[in-house]
Amino acid sequence: MYGYGGNILRINLTSGEMHIQPLPPEMARQWIGQRGFIAKILWDELKPGIDPLGPENKLVMSTGPLAGTLVPAGGKVSFGAKSPATGIYGESCMGGHIAAEMKYAGYDVIILEGAASRPCYIYIKDNQVEIRDASHLWGKGAIQTEKALKDELGEAFQICTIGPAGERLVKYACISHDFGRQAGRTGMGTVMGSKKVKAIAICGQQAIPLADLKATVEKGKEMLKGCFAKENLDEWQNYGTAGVPVWANNIGAFPTKNFQSSYLEGNENLDGKVMREKMVVTDKGCFGCPSPCGKYCYVKPYNVYTEGPEYETTALIGGNCLFTNIEQVGYLNYLCDELGLDTISAGNVIGFAMECFEKGILTKEQAGRELKFGDLASFQYLLEKIAAREGIGNILAEGVKYAAEQLGGDAIKFAIQVKGLEWSGYESRSAPSNMLAYMTCDLGAHHNRAWSVTHDIAVGRRVLEGKAQKVIELQHIRPFFDMIGCCRLQWVEIGFELAHYPEVLRYVTGFDYTQDDLMKISEKVWHLTRAFAWRELADYGRKYDYPPARFYEETVTGGPNAGDIISMETLDFLLDDYYRLRGWDKNGLPTRQKLAQMGLDFVIEELEACGRKL
Ligand code: SF4
Repeated sequence: MYGYGGNILRINLTSGEMHIQPLPPEMARQWIGQRGFIAKILWDELKPGIDPLGPENKLVMSTGPLAGTLVPAGGKVSFGAKSPATGIYGESCMGGHIAAEMKYAGYDVIILEGAASRPCYIYIKDNQVEIRDASHLWGKGAIQTEKALKDELGEAFQICTIGPAGERLVKYACISHDFGRQAGRTGMGTVMGSKKVKAIAICGQQAIPLADLKATVEKGKEMLKGCFAKENLDEWQNYGTAGVPVWANNIGAFPTKNFQSSYLEGNENLDGKVMREKMVVTDKGCFGCPSPCGKYCYVKPYNVYTEGPEYETTALIGGNCLFTNIEQVGYLNYLCDELGLDTISAGNVIGFAMECFEKGILTKEQAGRELKFGDLASFQYLLEKIAAREGIGNILAEGVKYAAEQLGGDAIKFAIQVKGLEWSGYESRSAPSNMLAYMTCDLGAHHNRAWSVTHDIAVGRRVLEGKAQKVIELQHIRPFFDMIGCCRLQWVEIGFELAHYPEVLRYVTGFDYTQDDLMKISEKVWHLTRAFAWRELADYGRKYDYPPARFYEETVTGGPNAGDIISMETLDFLLDDYYRLRGWDKNGLPTRQKLAQMGLDFVIEELEACGRKL
């Protein structure tokens, strides 16, 4: 098969059995790869109602047809499973070099089933696949583990790992790779930990067959030149997402003090320029990237090396927990990376705990010490308690929604999450389309699927018409990149044209997709993952899409948007418009007609078999 590794590797950790199956060409054509494959496999193979941390859950690792090819930035891989953080469809993508290696080993999909009885790691060298003992690695940090395995196996292996947080089933544990790249969201590291898999190490030595090698080479060169010619390439490359905090603050979108405000005094100290001066050792990119955004840093006062912090980390650890010293944020980023914690969720949960303490909802006795915004010792203490699941950390390890329900009082109003997933780094009371994007994201409040703050600025935030349409358009384009194995940041950040991708996909795979076809497939997956959530939760629908009460009951406390609030009336207008355009009912559930139109008849049958009324 052109453009693909050509195989699905299935490993049952309970029995130790392994199977290599050829990738069905029809599956490739209809679901493209990565997110498309993950959604289809999880729909087909998971029984509704299973425990996300039980052996019945499956961890699916998949990449797409452009990964490992000459197409720029083809270095993305995703992990998917039923999420222990949300109880619905979970998925998270990451860069680095392991996607390409997986293809060179001949795999588009690796499925981990069952659970091992003792710590292990997966060793893959082409078709030599072994489940190896990992007792010497268990308990080690995620980055330390990668280093130890590189020393053991050699530099040719690309490795992804979990840290102690994943081992102890913290609900927002991530999967790490390449010394600082993470699949951070929805607890994919938690699922890996529940299977007692500490790492996956891959070395591949095979070629990827291409439908038209000459045309792919020419197109790859053209795309590379096109990226290099973009005006803002230098700015992007110099700072990556670390260049964003000052802009986000100036427009009043920087989450501050657990989203009470959207403006942080002293935010200029978190700027990418300051980070570059004080900490950056070198730029670092994923496989084939023409615009490396990774910033590898040495944090001198703490004597540690870390990749980043990136924007989301600076927003959730910096702004949300009131740190204005980039070296402190860098150090806390390092700790999260070693412990194997998603920095978005960790910063969100800890900001929440600090506010609970300030309000007397969380006492000194419960917390085990005093907690204060902007206090490094408080943050570090909570982080370590969470990763060890000790004391208050055991409650916070379950995520912000669960912690709020346990602590009681008004805590749930300022637990900043949707569907149980902690909110990404944009305060959006003044950005209604972005608010809608995070409300309706199939994973919970995450920026991966759609991010539309610039649309709110361009069109005006008081104009509500057209917002839902924009969000839907983005929810098809952005996750499309998570189907082809390519980074989307060239399109998002340097303005590289979308039109290149159908053409290059044709040269790589031989499938004659139009741009419209590709967006339709991306849309199909959107309906499938919504249906997945409904299959899991009989009461699923509109009530799961609302943001926390803070956003519609409390005004922004400072900065350019001080006094702003988003009314319930506005939220309902946005949701109504969104559901109508999606072809869903007023409760936000996919209709029979829409599912049939998308070719998802098997979904209709299964939903009906589960007692859902369509
Ligand atoms: Fe990786 Fe950044 Fe390049 Fe994307 S832009 S491929 S995330 S280095």
